[in-house]
Amino acid sequence: MRIDPTKCVACGNCTYVCPMGAIYIDPVIERATVNRDECVECYACFNGLSQEHLNPTMVRTVRKLFKMMRLRFDPEPDVCPTAAFAPEELVWPRVVRRAFSDPRVPHESTGVEGRGTEEVKTNDVSGRVKVGEVGFTIELGRPGVGVWFRQIQEMATQLALIGVTFEKRNPITSLMSDVATGTIREDIMNEKVLSAIIEIKVPIERTEEIIRLVQTVEKRLDTVVALGVATRCDPDGEERIVAPILAGLGYKLERAKTNTGLGRATNPSNTVTISEVVAK
Ligand code: SF4
Ligand code: SF4
Repeated sequence: MRIDPTKCVACGNCTYVCPMGAIYIDPVIERATVNRDECVECYACFNGLSQEHLNPTMVRTVRKLFKMMRLRFDPEPDVCPTAAFAPEELVWPRVVRRAFSDPRVPHESTGVEGRGTEEVKTNDVSGRVKVGEVGFTIELGRPGVGVWFRQIQEMATQLALIGVTFEKRNPITSLMSDVATGTIREDIMNEKVLSAIIEIKVPIERTEEIIRLVQTVEKRLDTVVALGVATRCDPDGEERIVAPILAGLGYKLERAKTNTGLGRATNPSNTVTISEVVAK
């Protein structure tokens, strides 16, 4: 994202809507400026503020006059008074920032909008997590923090070292140059996104091993990591195998979601609902 300095009147409204704190008023030029390293191209500033088309010179003059009288002339907080945002035509590799940070932009690899695939929400139909398996979503980054692809790679390569399989229909997997080692393509290493989700699944017996590894790697990463654990319920709608493992690791469990088959099962074996436990 760029801000046109000839239009900006430095009202500061946009500084409050940027989830990365990437917009600041440059005291030298007295205009709002975007920190290009921190901007994840989420477009929250451009889409979140109404664009008015006041004359910048007129607004600056009025603001100066008011200031001389020790008064303030500020636009409504939800507008950019002079439509100063100038979105760029994003090209590779910077365009990946937008794909992972603006939930309305579909990932070309999956056609699914947002940061990941549908995770396990449609498991009744897709049957990705089967009886005896655990699915993990390892989400790196958050608004206000973000995550670099080099940090995502650090987590992915460590997971690959212990022989996990990455979900094929996941956008991060599609950006790996070597899925066997979890290596992500070199040309996006210096790109930053709001957040991204690695998806894997393993046999239930490996639940503790995966969680302990994620905990170890997470300590080395200067970002936020949230771990989602998903498994199938038994015919009573309960889950008595993975839950004790998580409780033994010190997690206080709450039933976050129970997805009860709102889709039509295309695979007869997929008739058991799935319970998703979120341990953060
Ligand atoms: S809202 Fe518009 S005019 Fe105000 S500081 Fe931001 S870019 Fe400049
Ligand atoms: S596109 Fe998003 S991250 Fe970039 S300046 Fe605008 S709000 Fe901030």
